This record gives sequence, C-alpha cells and structure tokens, in this order.
Amino acid sequence: MQSVPTARDTLQAVFGYDSFRPPQETIVDTLLAGGDALVIMPTGGGKSLCYQLPALVRSGCGVVVSPLIALMQDQVDSLRELGVRAAYLNSSLDPASAAAVERALRAGELDLLYVAPERLLQPRTQALLDEASIALFAIDEAHCVSQWGHDFRADYLELSILAERFPGVPRIALTATADARTRAEIARRLSLEEARQFIASFDRPNIRYRMALKDNPRQQLLRFLRDEHPRDAGIVYCLSRRKVDETARWLRQQGFEALPYHAGLDSAERAANQARFLREEGLVMVATIAFGMGIDKPDVRFVAHLDLPKTVEAYYQETGRAGRDGLPADAWLVYGLQDVMKLRQMMDSSQGSEEHKRAEQQRLNAMLGLCELTSCRRQALLAYFGEELAEPCGNCDTCLEPVDTWDGTEAARMALSAVYRTGQRFGVGHLVDVLRGVDSDKVRQFAHDNLPTFGVGNALDVNQWRSVFRQLVARAYLAVDLERYGALRLREKARPLLKGEEALPLRRDSRPAGGAARRRTE
Ligand code: ADP
Ligand code: ZN
Repeated sequence: MQSVPTARDTLQAVFGYDSFRPPQETIVDTLLAGGDALVIMPTGGGKSLCYQLPALVRSGCGVVVSPLIALMQDQVDSLRELGVRAAYLNSSLDPASAAAVERALRAGELDLLYVAPERLLQPRTQALLDEASIALFAIDEAHCVSQWGHDFRADYLELSILAERFPGVPRIALTATADARTRAEIARRLSLEEARQFIASFDRPNIRYRMALKDNPRQQLLRFLRDEHPRDAGIVYCLSRRKVDETARWLRQQGFEALPYHAGLDSAERAANQARFLREEGLVMVATIAFGMGIDKPDVRFVAHLDLPKTVEAYYQETGRAGRDGLPADAWLVYGLQDVMKLRQMMDSSQGSEEHKRAEQQRLNAMLGLCELTSCRRQALLAYFGEELAEPCGNCDTCLEPVDTWDGTEAARMALSAVYRTGQRFGVGHLVDVLRGVDSDKVRQFAHDNLPTFGVGNALDVNQWRSVFRQLVARAYLAVDLERYGALRLREKARPLLKGEEALPLRRDSRPAGGAARRRTE
C-alpha cells in the first residue's frame, strides 16, 4: 500500500504549484491537525487552496459553502480538470443529477462538494451529511454573516449549527473583507472564537492608485484609456445601470470594444458579456458593482471608477480585480462632491435603522477621506485594514506627483482641540458648530459656548471643516466610535500635531470656496 501523500506532494501533483504562498501552509497544517481557521486574505491571494488541499489530504469529502451558484460551476469545472472528484449541490440541478451527487457522496466518491447555504441547511442535506464522511467544512465569503456589510445573507447566520452538529469536523471560514469589526462578527456568529486567525497582507504593490476630482469625467476617462490603456482589458465601474449603458455606448463610439454589465440586462446577455470579457483580449467591461465577484481574469490592466464607491472595502475589492498577474496595473478614480451628496441622500432615504444609516455615512466619509489625501494612498488604504506600511509606497498619485496644498495645521489643531475640550464624545456636526460659534441647543445644553475653541473657526465654512475632519480620520489622528453615534476620539498620533510639532498639508482642491483653482494637467 502507498503511504499517505503529504500536503506538499499534493500541492505539486494535483495543483502543479512548487510552493505555498505565505500563510497557506500554516492554514493547511492547522486543518490537517484538526483545528479551525479564520482566514482573511485579499481577493486573488489564494484562499481556495487553503481548503481544497486539506480536503484532498484528509479522508472524507470537503464540504464548501458558497453563496454564488455561478461560481460553483466554475470551481467544480476547474477542479475536475485537475482530476479532483468535485461536485456541487444547488437549485440549478435537476432532481436526477442531485440524486447522483448525493449517491456519490454517500459512497465516499467525492473529494469536494460545493453547496449553497440554503441547500446545506435543508433537513434532507443535513441527514445526508450525517451519513457521509466529512473531511472539513469551508465557509467561503464568510463576511455574508455580517449584517453591516452589503453582502448580508440571512442563511449564513444559521451556519453555526455546523459547529453543534459536527463537533469533530474542522471548519475554515474565509473572506477578503478585513475590518476588525466584521472579523469579530464572523468569529462570533460562526462559533469560531477559538479558531486560529490568519490575516494576510492586503498590499497589492503592482496596483497604482490614482484619484482626481471630476472635471468633465468622460474626457478624463477617454484620455486615461487612450494614453495608457489603448488595447488593454479593464473594468469601468458606474453607479447606475443607465450610466453603464450610456458609457458603454459612448466608449464604443470612441472606438473601444466596450460591453455593459448590470443586473438589469437579461441573464443570457450578462453571461455572454462576461464570457467574452474573460475569453477575449482587450475588452472594456462597463459595469455596476453586480460585476466582479469571483472574476478571476489575471490580466485586467485597469479598474476605473466614474463614481465613488460607497466604502473603502468596496473600493479595495473592486480595484483588486486589476493586476492579478502581478504586472503593473492602474486603479483610477474620479470623484465629485456632487456625487457624495447624491450618495448621502440615497443612504438617508433608504430603509434601515438610524444606526445602520449612520454606519453607512461613516463608511462613505472614510472613502471620501481617502480621495482627499495629500499623503500616500496605499499607507492610508492599508491602515484602514489595520495594516501598517512603514514608508510611503512610491506607486500612488500622491507619492508620484506633489499635490497642490494649503497649510491646514492651524485648522487641524483647532479641530483636535475642539474634540479634546468637548470630552471626545461628539460627532463632526456638533464639533463644527462649536468651531464656527453656532448657537445651537446642544451647544447651550453642554455650555460649549464657554470653551476657548468656541467660534475660533469662522474662517472656514461647514464643508471645509468637514473635509478637515475627514482628513484627520483618514490619516489616523482621530478615531470614529461607531458604537457612540460617530463620536470622535483623539489617537496617540494626534499629540505632535496638537502640540504644534507637526504640520498638516491639505488638498487645495478639497477647499471649494475662495478660488479652488483646479489644476488641469494637460
Ligand atoms: P482568492 O479565492 O483568494 O481570490 P484564488 O484561490 O482564486 O484566490 O487564487 C488566486 C490565484 O492564485 C489562482 O489563479 C490560483 O491558481 C493561484 N494560486 C493560489 N495558490 C497558489 C500557489 N501556492 N502558487 C501559485 N499560484 C497559486
Ligand atoms: Zn503612495
């Protein structure tokens, strides 16, 4: 009899890779030893291998919970090409095919089984799993348990029963959504508090980040495409379906092979456009956020945003579809304060609790803060995910071209001092009132008109002050407390700025009044 193959043998023999990527090996070892894992890894980082490989090495079948039926088919197809005995169970299967899959599982003839969450939770499937030998459970896109996120799936909340029903089976949850809050929520809701956590670096050094104020956005896009990506494959994201259609049509008139993609197209056209984008070279996909989850096209050379994403996570995910092959790629974005107002209104008039709306607004502010930076964008982006980059990256627009700035040091000190003197318990709205000397009920209630900072900030208007605060948050001088209505708190880093030992340059173009002299670079 042959000896049991090791993880490395299987890596080579089945997947054809010479080595593991950094955290993969430890994750695989953890599962092989029977432990649980919570894996945070950026898109394209290599999450699938973390459960596919141990599923092959351990005896029994690995059961993978995945929210997207369309992706299951792709995953199963590519696994079968590698000679892996893989199958899926979801509502797209006719009863006879589903029965065949179930038979194969019972007979121990499957290495990997992909299941939609609602299917997994059905009593029939639970009974089936009781009869089968299971190597592990993998819960992909685990952030779908988060009620705060935009991919929330109620079915995911019930997946904690796996821990109760199959206590001896190792479980691994995976996601590319990294903020600490979501991470904690995943651990709690999936009963993975004891699981070992693996957090891979989110840096994508080959992606160059660029953001500019809108100034005839179509022409800006056209210039970007003609000058830098005339024949490259890329994605252009827009907020609305109508804008997708119009932009795709317009790009075709300009001589680009551009296709639309959004949820309003019928599914055949969507599938056809996606297939062309994956197969052909040099196509531009103009899309809403409906496009992209699980798209694994290595040579996407650019991701352009004609509208501001609603969150930094969304921005990171969407831009992360560029440059998966490791070659230079562009993340290009234009934003306008008009769009921000539109997004704010959409959020405000949406259903949902006040708390939820407030959280959405805060996330949007963080995204806008990233746009308004004068310092390295990559440092701020990674800091948002809790990762520190020691030096400015040298591969983003603010690193490469000096930004036109004004000295915001004095304003920043006033802002920080207002936060401090009001007891670090108030949100931006009230702090701006204090700085501008507004006689509001709240000001009187807390006697903030007696503070030395009251009314010292008359030189800036409300929007300018908001921008100053966004910058202070984006650059980690201030923290936002979501549990306390968005109250701002000083962070350690604020001290030298407050004491006047550090300067804070702010973007001139985010200071609209008083000659926002937009620089055109032509
Ligand atoms: P994710 O699910 O994190 O987005 P995937 O699992 O789809 O990422 O992997 C992204 C790409 O990296 C795939 O093309 C995969 O084949 C490749 N990959 C993963 N692990 C390795 C490895 N150890 N060596 C080489 N390529 C790898
Ligand atoms: Zn940089």
